[in-house]
Amino acid sequence: MSEIKDVPTGTVPAAPEANAPDRLRRDQSAAKSLFVGSILEENLFPYPKIRARDREILGSVVEAIDGFLAERDADFKKWDREAHQPEEFIQGLRDMGLFGLIIPEEHGGLELSNGAYARVLTQTSTHDASVSLTIGAHSSIGMKGILLFGTDAQKAKYLPKLASGEYIAAFCLTESGSGSDAASIRTSAKRNADGSWTLNGEKIWITNGGIAQVYTVFARTEGTDGKITAFVVEAGWSGVSHGSHEDKMGIRASSTTVVGFADVRVPAENVLGGEGKGFKVAMGILNSGRTGLGGGAVGGMKTLIRLCTAQANERKQFGAPIASYGLVREKIAQMTIDCFAAESTVWMLAHYIDSGVEDYATEAAISKVFASDAIQRCGQEALQIAGGNGFMREYPYEQIVRDSRILSIFEGTNEILRLFVGLSGLKDAGKALGELKSAVDDIFNNPIKGFGMLSGYAGHKLTQATGVGRDRIASRLPKDLADAQGVYEKYALELSAASDFVLRKYGKAVVDRQYDLKRLADVAIDLFVGLCTLSRAATLSAEGHAQAAQAISIASLFSQQAKRRMAANLRRLTRNEDAAMDALAGFTLERGAYAWDVL
Ligand SMILES: Cc1cc2nc3c(=O)[nH]c(=O)nc-3n(C[C@H](O)[C@H](O)[C@H](O)COP(=O)(O)OP(=O)(O)OC[C@H]3O[C@@H](n4cnc5c(N)ncnc54)[C@H](O)[C@@H]3O)c2cc1C
Repeated sequence: MSEIKDVPTGTVPAAPEANAPDRLRRDQSAAKSLFVGSILEENLFPYPKIRARDREILGSVVEAIDGFLAERDADFKKWDREAHQPEEFIQGLRDMGLFGLIIPEEHGGLELSNGAYARVLTQTSTHDASVSLTIGAHSSIGMKGILLFGTDAQKAKYLPKLASGEYIAAFCLTESGSGSDAASIRTSAKRNADGSWTLNGEKIWITNGGIAQVYTVFARTEGTDGKITAFVVEAGWSGVSHGSHEDKMGIRASSTTVVGFADVRVPAENVLGGEGKGFKVAMGILNSGRTGLGGGAVGGMKTLIRLCTAQANERKQFGAPIASYGLVREKIAQMTIDCFAAESTVWMLAHYIDSGVEDYATEAAISKVFASDAIQRCGQEALQIAGGNGFMREYPYEQIVRDSRILSIFEGTNEILRLFVGLSGLKDAGKALGELKSAVDDIFNNPIKGFGMLSGYAGHKLTQATGVGRDRIASRLPKDLADAQGVYEKYALELSAASDFVLRKYGKAVVDRQYDLKRLADVAIDLFVGLCTLSRAATLSAEGHAQAAQAISIASLFSQQAKRRMAANLRRLTRNEDAAMDALAGFTLERGAYAWDVL
């Protein structure tokens, strides 16, 4: 991509365009390849470009968004305090077509690519996170199931109303007893003699719960241990209800409620994606929706950078602007690196989805984890630069910090997603080891569901090394990026060796080695995010972009920081304090309190 930039209001932002179709390996995952030491160059270089159609549409959409949302800071602050979004405002979002962003034109939507969709959410998030949530929960997860898995009849019936915003959608998976362990839901659907279903249960913390007309609901259809099925349920049906607006820490204006189902009759034709296929439907929706969350995080970071650079330039202490002090400059540089790296990764992911790459779940998890962690780092640093002002509600920093906190909790916690990244990668590394393949395939195919299911695998010996040599990047990169290139080549090989090591050492029990899985995941995150950043900087340079030199500097800085983190993570696979940490956690957990009060 030549020019993703923090464009002024109304100019055309960039969105990914397909690389040469013959080059992209749609059957391969760039992130998972790293675990076998391979840098999948076809999927990483050059950096994807904006699609012509997206460029055309985005210009006017972004302009309309800015026109509608700019100058509303006081409203957003008020609605944050009052914890609601007025209906007239939601009507304004409808009028702009923001509920139909990814719905095909034939059903009345704008048919934006994932890249363009992420860019729209970036823009709304530069103004207010709750606005992004209302639109994003509708498109990314609420009605995405109908787009991805719906029958023609379901699409014809629901998509036009969802595109116009007459129907707003919500995604109903979480229950009081079932959060990360999504496979343990208790909401039930029993089949009736006429083929319809009777739905009973309660979902909690449902975004758009109080304003939606359509819910994608997940329920157990075969007793307590049976399969899960997804249903399209209308809010107006008898037995469907929602609770009051939750009083939240952040994204307070966005609707979050309990949604209840009491003997709700669901017609047979409202099963989504096939009976018993609900888990696949849920994971498909969440994976494909991650560009929205990542795009939103990037938008928040852009606002934080804008706010705190102005603050740093204006605020004088000790006779000089605080922007002149090293410890302030260091924070601003780091925020710039974080934003560029997150954006480069989110847009690469969008490119994979838009280009039909078959398996992008690992890249989706990486982009979600990195972007959500990055905005929280940026929020803390921007607030610190603002000093006491940052702590005051009069200024926007504290709200952005509160709003962004949720990003590492919902749509899969960052802990669960790190485990997923580690396990998905090890599955491929295991395949390279050959002997592990058939034994673990069935379990690793569904890592989230598979936790704790592997204890029977004792004594299985892994005898074959991967034998993968150091994979070199053949693309011509600017010479200033040679060191960065070397870092990723070296550490891809190291990740492969480390994966081999943990698979051999722990076999199936690796699934319970959470400290190690996190380390491997963090190495993979640094590698994949770093490669996206490297690719984008190289492409900007090749295209003679005005800020190419700074982009190269960012890619280079990221690689050096990543190198230090990766080295530490890999070293700590063998030299660590895990056992002592575990024992101390056990002590504190048992005691249930801190043990050393002074008095
Ligand atoms: C504002 C908001 C909006 C939401 N919107 C929706 C929505 O629209 N639809 C919907 O269905 N849900 C929604 N959710 C629910 C959200 O997806 C869940 O909160 C999330 O999946 C985590 O579940 P939990 O809160 O029950 O945490 P838990 O699963 O209880 O986890 C608690 C902690 O334990 C950790 N943990 C859990 N299991 C493991 C493990 N095996 N290994 C290591 N660590 C582990 C977690 O990472 C976390 O840190 C929303 C939540 C909030 C707060």
